[in-house]
Amino acid sequence: VIYIKDLFKSFGTLDVLKGVELNLEPKENLAVLGKSGSGKSVLIKIIAGLISPDKGHVEVLGKNLEHISKKELEQLRLKLGFCFQNSALYDSMTINENILFPLKYALKTDTPAEMQKKADQVLEAVGLLRSKNQMPSELSGGQKKRIGIARTVVMNPEIILYDEPTSGLDPITCVEVNELILRIKHEYDTSAIIITHDLTCAKHTSDRISVLLDGYFKKTGKFDEVFNEEANNEIKEFYNYNF
Ligand code: ATP
Ligand code: MG
Repeated sequence: VIYIKDLFKSFGTLDVLKGVELNLEPKENLAVLGKSGSGKSVLIKIIAGLISPDKGHVEVLGKNLEHISKKELEQLRLKLGFCFQNSALYDSMTINENILFPLKYALKTDTPAEMQKKADQVLEAVGLLRSKNQMPSELSGGQKKRIGIARTVVMNPEIILYDEPTSGLDPITCVEVNELILRIKHEYDTSAIIITHDLTCAKHTSDRISVLLDGYFKKTGKFDEVFNEEANNEIKEFYNYNF
């Protein structure tokens, strides 16, 4: 569902992506690991058409982003769910209004009753239906992450791009978010790219992982293959992984 070849992106003299290759299969979850500043967020912004690459082939759901019209890009974005690093909830709206917002302004096809039904379903799925009339400021970090995920899932995307879904959460809440990510994959039949620094998250939510180092994917494979005994020392050292 995503195919990337020879992707390059620089900002001024800073070369961030230097030959990224990626192939995301249907219904696959791929975790992307890599140091802070290695270009993980830039990569998924390119996939979402928010940043344009300098060079390279980027194909998302069969569309080549280089030759895409504005209209086609809009349509494609409806099939892509983006879960931002900071959840990006609207602080002045209730949880319910936050979830309804993308349905109202992007989809525009449902009746108010249909929209509310979808919102209630996803709130139930993330276990926060009872919080629907609360404000974001009243929720914990983990609850906000779950609402951010619910707001993405309510649009019924084919691919979800998660940017650090478990950052800043305690270990038990991380496990809950990991389980939610897996449940969404199975219940909604989605594919996903999950950017994370959290090895437990990568191991539990993903079918394969890729490590972004020096501007390209140094290693891609199943978790245990990437972190096996012959694993790249650079990767092992960075994660201080115990074997
Ligand atoms: P983190 O793990 O901290 O979120 P990251 O891997 O997501 O890091 P990116 O946000 O992708 O890192 O940024 C990669 C590099 O590109 C950084 O050095 C950043 O400063 C730079 N960068 C990102 N976006 C822009 C931009 N719009 N203009 C200039 N530089 C940018
Ligand atoms: Mg980032």
